Amino acid sequence: MVWIPPCPFAFLEENLLPKPSKQDFMRCAYNEALKAWECGEIPVGAVAVVQHSLIARAGNAVETQQDATAHAEMNLIRMISNQRHDWRLADVTLYVTKEPCPMCSGAILRARIPTVVVGAWDPLQGCLGGRIHFNQALQAYHQISVEEESLQGACEQLLTTFFSLRRQQEKNADRFRIDPQQDF
Ligand SMILES: [Zn+2]
Repeated sequence: MVWIPPCPFAFLEENLLPKPSKQDFMRCAYNEALKAWECGEIPVGAVAVVQHSLIARAGNAVETQQDATAHAEMNLIRMISNQRHDWRLADVTLYVTKEPCPMCSGAILRARIPTVVVGAWDPLQGCLGGRIHFNQALQAYHQISVEEESLQGACEQLLTTFFSLRRQQEKNADRFRIDPQQDF
């Protein structure tokens, strides 16, 4: 069981009326990431928007569901497809706090989602420009339009703080494990 640090960040105020901006939607995705953190997950959140209305929201749930595919974007895509009984999500704009990984970028492509708004870029695993770009790497029938959002700094800070707190705790745990042996 991986130790999860307590979340030091506060939820952002959500304002979805009368006409929300891109940042308003990203704030909702950010709050989903915080909820995921509080459930013991790596903090990533996503929301889906159709014609200026938020239609679904989800967070990472890999640990909770013990399912490697339960990333925020996958959970969101499943939720909407199940609701609609339709896998084609060609009218959906997806907002996500971290650039999608290979699995999620593939699912976005397959679901025909036309636009993804990204919070933090992922230079290690990101497949929408951070590491590679599926638009260029694959001969895809469908191109994904990728946009950046002004909440990028907060989204990056969320992940860097999460991993740095976890590393710090792991170091402390190592020290704690050694101490009793020295006493005896
Ligand atoms: Zn993913």
